[in-house]
Amino acid sequence: MGNALAIAGGPRLTNREWPRWPQPGERALKSLEDVLTSGRWTISCAYQGRESYERQFAAAFADYCRSALCVPMATGTASLAVALEACGVGAGDEVIVPGLTWVASASAVLGINAVPVLVDVDPRTYCLDPAAVEAAITERTRAITVVHAYSAVADLDSLLDIAQRHGLPLIEDCAHAHGASYGNWPVGAFGTAGVFSMQGSKLLTCGEGGALVTDDADVANRAEHLRADGRVLRRGSVDVGEMELEETGRLMGSNACLSEFHAAVLLDQLALLDGQNARRTRAAEHLAGRLGELGLAVQETSPGTTDRSYYRFLVRVPDEVLAVAPVDRLARALTAELGFAVTQTHRPLNDNPLNRPATRRRFATDARYLERVDPARFDLPVATRVHNSVVSFGHEVLLAPLDAIDDISRAFRKVLDNVREIGG
Ligand SMILES: *Cc1c(COP(=O)(O)O)cnc(C)c1O
Repeated sequence: MGNALAIAGGPRLTNREWPRWPQPGERALKSLEDVLTSGRWTISCAYQGRESYERQFAAAFADYCRSALCVPMATGTASLAVALEACGVGAGDEVIVPGLTWVASASAVLGINAVPVLVDVDPRTYCLDPAAVEAAITERTRAITVVHAYSAVADLDSLLDIAQRHGLPLIEDCAHAHGASYGNWPVGAFGTAGVFSMQGSKLLTCGEGGALVTDDADVANRAEHLRADGRVLRRGSVDVGEMELEETGRLMGSNACLSEFHAAVLLDQLALLDGQNARRTRAAEHLAGRLGELGLAVQETSPGTTDRSYYRFLVRVPDEVLAVAPVDRLARALTAELGFAVTQTHRPLNDNPLNRPATRRRFATDARYLERVDPARFDLPVATRVHNSVVSFGHEVLLAPLDAIDDISRAFRKVLDNVREIGG
């Protein structure tokens, strides 16, 4: 009975402690104490005679992304909405959104009264399919957003070509891709703007945070206005006790500023990111090899990718296995063997309980708008197939030593060998 699956009452394959996320670095406590006693907890507090953590993080992250400018924000969702608005997108405009992603990719578009047009993904990379993008463009399209999803980089060459031919801004949503590169250049620096989330699950995190990077000074200036109630940071000198934010009023905004506490934690985490990415990549490549020996395929990335960043690790389950047991049962069986959460991908956005604009009265501007933003009007066959055939787990697991990583392939083998125990 040693082989019985844990989900069927057998022994677990391993009882190991897996790495957890987030993980604090060594400088954070000192920096947080420094913020606490500095008299300045956010950039909208008076200047205290030294550069804010927010400015330090903006400079460091722009540099990291090899972009000219960075505007930090309170969340990734705010960064995406601000990026779109800073590129001139507004009420009623159509925005291309990938169909397989976190709900924020759609809610940020709805948040500026625009219309998310859900577009299907590539069956190998699970990122936006360029041919489907081309087919979805209409005379009302005003922007393309692309997510570098899970552990892949999207086909940026094709997407940039489409964006250029149609005169549309490309916004890269890099919420999963801190540190990934394409053609040896960091993601986020290819589109008109790149946006990042630093929410607690992400590869670079301070709990809740976000950022926009761009080389376009006008986009950055509009983003600054939009995230700080129509104010921008003064370029000239500031006296202690004065506001560093200057009220221009050129463009009305709202508040999505990143606090000094969050910026201090991000500076600490940024110093760790490359080392963690390298460890995750080593583990992921090792695991992909082991799973390959079992005939299992992992998520691919676009040919131009030079560095992957593993936010989640995705494994496709073969059709003959799915014919015996559905993917959710397989995910639960793997969870039971390993002791960490193995799950399906995001639910496709045309059939996702979190993507329900009709539940919110603010979107009932008129009946026509509610029809245009109804997610059910889109067909996403590839995203649906991916959702029904792929299992995934989080990046923190990939920080485990390689002998622990071997337990993961052993668990896949055990579940596949005994799949009839969990079959329908
Ligand atoms: C997490 C995430 C966001 C939103 O970020 P928040 O910081 O949670 O607002 C946007 N897009 C994608 C793809 C994400 O995974």
